[in-house]
Amino acid sequence: MNYQPSKTRYEKMIYNRCGKSGVLLPALSVGLWQNFGDVDTLQNQKNILTTAFDNGITHFDLANNYGPPPGSAETNFGKIMMEEFNGYRDELIISSKAGYAMWDGPYGDWGSKKYLVSSLDQSLKRMKLAYVDIFYHHRPDPNTPLEETMAALDLIVRQGKALYVGLSNYKAEEAIKAFAILKQMGTPCLIHQPKYSMFERWVEGGLLDALEEYGVGCIPFSPLAQGLLTNKYLNGIPGDSRAVRNFFLKETDITSEKIEKVKQLNELALVRNQTIAQMALAWLMKDKRITTVLIGASKPEQVLNSIACLDNLHFTEDELGKINDILG
Ligand code: NDP
Repeated sequence: MNYQPSKTRYEKMIYNRCGKSGVLLPALSVGLWQNFGDVDTLQNQKNILTTAFDNGITHFDLANNYGPPPGSAETNFGKIMMEEFNGYRDELIISSKAGYAMWDGPYGDWGSKKYLVSSLDQSLKRMKLAYVDIFYHHRPDPNTPLEETMAALDLIVRQGKALYVGLSNYKAEEAIKAFAILKQMGTPCLIHQPKYSMFERWVEGGLLDALEEYGVGCIPFSPLAQGLLTNKYLNGIPGDSRAVRNFFLKETDITSEKIEKVKQLNELALVRNQTIAQMALAWLMKDKRITTVLIGASKPEQVLNSIACLDNLHFTEDELGKINDILG
């Protein structure tokens, strides 16, 4: 029998307005960067996404190059859309991106109009979608005029291939220039996707202020530092962890200094009746400029564990001070 989403899926999730737009996003979103390639089992992928949707997660984030191999996460997602989510397209916000190397030759990377427009055409075919809800420029391109890249995003919206546009990995100054160009074109930037977690706080140095000023939402990626901010590595490196599986998180990234911090965070999380992962996610959500936190998961249980962060979003000043002391 086909998947039937839970009837209570909208009862517990919190939905936040994305910047000054009309779009509401769930407090947590799920990304398909890892665990959705051809090397992963389709059934587990389905279980992760249906568990997310059953619990009110309406936003799935992709990019042209997610896999491995690049493109396969979008192809697998296309299958899952057809087989499980057919009939639910209008309840979902689906994003994709282009900006990193995707195909051979001079037109398959960075930020030209040629690359962005063709890449989204390819993504739509792989995902079997008529349009994406959000299309991002994945990283700034120092060699293409910003006007050209933004004109490509504007064109894509006017062609009906994306409803909204976003930027990822742009520093505050670059983002501000891009916001101004997009606004002038009549295609305001909906959302910015930066790396942000307890271990990676660069956005606090100006980007979040800029997002607030320009009415742009924020969707932090790798909020659990790829699994480091969980209890997963407290007693060594488990065989089924990302640190063993691929090179994006290396065993050498699991330093004794980081693990010491995670242990101290764990003590605090236990007092709050949370797991470290739940505390790390709630800690991001304390800032009202954060629209939705973009988690990854290798198992459906991790999605459930992470969603339970919503049970305790409040931090005392004392707790926040202790966290800052631990993070140093
Ligand atoms: P996270 O920091 O949430 O890391 C996810 C990993 O943490 C999981 O694969 C799992 O590791 C572990 N984990 C997750 N939940 C739990 C839990 N509750 N308990 C224990 N362990 C847990 O995010 P990602 O790094 O996966 O990034 C999330 C998304 O952000 C991506 O899918 C993508 O959409 C986006 N992204 C965007 C980038 C950009 O440049 N714009 C770059 C990178 C990511 P394990 O696999 O070991 O079980």
